[in-house]
Amino acid sequence: MMTKAHPTRAERQMQFLYGLRSRGVTDGRVLTAMEKTDRALFVKGHFADRAYDDMPLPIACGQTISQPSVVGLMTQELQIQPRDKVLEVGTGSGYQAVILSHLARRVYTVDRHRRLMTEAQAVFKALDITNLTAFTADGSFGLPEQAPFDRILVTAAAEDPPGPLLAQLKVGGIMVLPVGQSNAVQTLIRVTRNETGFDYEEIRPVRFVPLLEGLGKD
Ligand code: SAH
Repeated sequence: MMTKAHPTRAERQMQFLYGLRSRGVTDGRVLTAMEKTDRALFVKGHFADRAYDDMPLPIACGQTISQPSVVGLMTQELQIQPRDKVLEVGTGSGYQAVILSHLARRVYTVDRHRRLMTEAQAVFKALDITNLTAFTADGSFGLPEQAPFDRILVTAAAEDPPGPLLAQLKVGGIMVLPVGQSNAVQTLIRVTRNETGFDYEEIRPVRFVPLLEGLGKD
């Protein structure tokens, strides 16, 4: 009996993009940014061969790299413009940050785990990405030195949008984040700052690791 040969990288890419489209990621710029970003670079060890599957995968420090379709949908909801300055809270593997770096002028990303930061920074360096800066920090306080931001993406769930992040959003700016209890299904929401306050829209149910206070122990 003939065994099926391993799919080529081009075939895997096509399948990956088809999967994203069929799950609602339709924005051409977002799809192009995701096409340019090889998820296998961000997944270590024996999960590496699942890199193109549409599922979250474990990374160091008990965290996860999000499901590609959720990464795509969140990025799409941000409606990033080419001149935008973006903050991501929750660098994790760095996968989402690199996608953002292909869409925005400047991206800052923070994580509370030094170890994840070191690993992500090594990938950013290898990819020679020049418009992305990553720090170890508690992102629930935002990044006051670089504020305000056109867009903010939080990739860990808080019970409510953190006040400092709302304060660091420009008027007209958009923040996308999961909110809700960490052990339950959460809701992805989009917060838009207007002249007088904030508009809140619910997007879809999601499941993320919790946004935690302070720095991690590794
Ligand atoms: N965006 C990531 C996935 C993030 S998982 C990727 O593309 O791989 C969520 C991340 O949020 C974890 O790495 C966790 O350490 C981080 N995190 C949780 N609370 C945080 C906080 N207060 N400040 C910064 N990072 C935080």
